[in-house]
Order: sequence, then C-alpha cells, then structure tokens
Amino acid sequence: MAGRAVVTGGAGFIGSHLCERLLAEDYEVVCLDNFLTGRPDNVAHLIEQAGFRLVRCDVTDYIHVVGPVDMVLHFASPASPIDYLQLPIHTLKVGSIGTLHALGLAREKGARFVLASTSEAYGDPLVHPQPETYWGNVNPVGPRGVYDEAKRFAEALTMAYRSTHGLDTAIVRIFNTFGPRLRPNDGRAIPTFVRQALRGEPLTVAGDGSQTRSICYVDDMVEGILRMAHSDHPGPMNLGNPHELSVLELAQWVRELTGSASDIHFIPRPEDDPRVRQPDIAQARDVLGWEPKVAVEDGLRRTIAWFRDHPELV
Ligand code: NAD
Repeated sequence: MAGRAVVTGGAGFIGSHLCERLLAEDYEVVCLDNFLTGRPDNVAHLIEQAGFRLVRCDVTDYIHVVGPVDMVLHFASPASPIDYLQLPIHTLKVGSIGTLHALGLAREKGARFVLASTSEAYGDPLVHPQPETYWGNVNPVGPRGVYDEAKRFAEALTMAYRSTHGLDTAIVRIFNTFGPRLRPNDGRAIPTFVRQALRGEPLTVAGDGSQTRSICYVDDMVEGILRMAHSDHPGPMNLGNPHELSVLELAQWVRELTGSASDIHFIPRPEDDPRVRQPDIAQARDVLGWEPKVAVEDGLRRTIAWFRDHPELV
C-alpha cells in the first residue's frame, strides 16, 4: 500500500476522479461526502475495490477517521455558480468550518494537507493571465463573494496552520475543469451546452459570448493535483489549461462535436461573471514538471461520449 488518503468531497466531479487515481496508485482511500452536490453513483464503481471506503458525513460537523492518514485532500465545497448561489451559507461554512475540520484531521494524523482552492480567488481579474502572485479583484458583497471569499479564507487558514502548527500544507488554485461526471444541470458552460446540444435545444450563451474561459480536462487536473500532493511545495499553485477560448467558440465546438443542429441563443450575462480567465502555469511547469496534455477537442469528445452513455442524466 502506497499510503492512506482522505478525500473530502470525494463523491463529487473532481473528487471521484481523484479517488479513482489514488486507488490505481495503490492508496487506501477514505471518501467523505454528504452528497450535497455529488452523487454516490460517481464512486459506485469503486465500492467493491479493496481499500476504498465511502463515508456519508458533513465536514462542517465533527470529522473523525480511525487509523493512520498520510494525505488529506480537501475538495468538499459546492463549486458551480448555480450551486453556491443556492447554498450561500453552506458554501461559506464548508470553506471555513469544513476547512478547519479537515486541517484539524491532517494535524491530528501528521498528514500532508491539500486545499482545493480556485481561480475564483482572483475574482474578475485586472491582470491577465493570472500568476499566483496576483492578489485578485473580488467583490465580497457580490453574489459570487460567498464562494470566492470562502476559498480565500480557506487559503488564509491553511497558511495559518502551516505557520502556527508546522503542518505540511499545499494550496492548488484550480481553473475550470471539465470531463465525465460533471452534472448536466450544474449551470457551468460545458455541461449546459452538451445537454442542450444532445436534447436539440438552443445553446444559451451569456452576453455576446466574447468572455473567455480556459478549460482543463479532468485527467490532466488530477495529475497536477497529485504531483502537488507528492511534492513538498506549499503553493498556491495554479493548475489549469492556458489554452483560452471564448464562450461562443466553446458553444460552437460542442455543437460541431455533438453533430447537433441547435441554434445559439444569447442570454444576459450573470452579475460579476468574470470577463477573462487564463492561468499562468509557469510555476507548475517549473516545480511540478506539469502541463495539460489532453487537447480541448479530445476532452470534449470524451465528455460528450460520457453524457451520451448517461441519457438518464441529460
Ligand atoms: P462537486 O460539487 O462535483 O464536488 C464537491 C463535493 O463536495 C460534492 O460531492 C459534495 O456533495 C461535497 N460536499 C459539499 N459540501 C460538503 C460537506 N459539508 N461535507 C461533505 N461533503 C460535501 O464540485 P467539483 O467541481 O468536483 O469541485 C471540487 C472542488 O474543486 C471544490 O472544492 C471546488 O471549489 C474546487 N474547484 C473546482 C473547479 C472545477 O472547475 N470543477 C474549479 C475550481 C475549484
């Protein structure tokens, strides 16, 4: 056995891929999730594997894990705008109290702690692309503030545990990630476009679609997260795909790759929707020897194939 890892939010989109990869690397995995935005189905294929344990729990309550733990990966948090706008207080609680509990677990066990932070820590950025040294442009009282500030608080708390308790910590700032197991109705651009295209409905593009996103395929993201987990670097470390494309281009790609005849409809842009988003991954290249390998087109094909295989979700 390579070690024992606890993944909070392990039944979510990225968390479930992380659990899968850790098991493949011979880790024992304890997955903690309350299924608020994740689904037991995301890890159903892992249940029979020796070394995998799924525990239903809310990390804002007390967390207890019996036995040794080498790594705590804290991924529990609503992550899509639809989710965190519907769950503003929970989002703040899981970023603050949940992070406190996950750090406490790592401290009790002497484990390395990895915080899933976000590019949203940069808010609507005034610097482009965003390096880790940029402090961000966040509106704390805007609707997205609940997520952005929860993650910024979680980063500060992680650094406080590092300096005060000497905890071995890491912060990864994750940029938009996509792939199989995204919830079709989670409001993020890719699952929305794929669902709309497969149903033959119009693809709804916010604003004029010129705002940009940089999207990273989940296998690449998991590779980056685990390289960070296995390093001794504290971060923050940007992880994402610097390949930037407009939301309109993304809709056009999805329409083409699904072979859909859907129209594109333009709808109002949500408040505080970031205009540009592109990671500067020079540090990840340098320190972790990491960069995304999966072309956006291949990633979209794999994601569309998964959605086609799960018509009940579409
Ligand atoms: P997700 O919603 O699919 O996964 C989050 C998981 O956390 C879900 O399974 C949910 O049920 C669980 N959860 C929420 N509150 C919980 C609680 N109190 N106790 C236990 N479990 C709880 O989202 P995701 O896209 O997989 O995101 C995972 C992490 O990565 C989040 O922390 C998110 O902020 C971060 N992140 C994701 C992206 C992305 O593009 N997907 C980008 C930046 C950061």
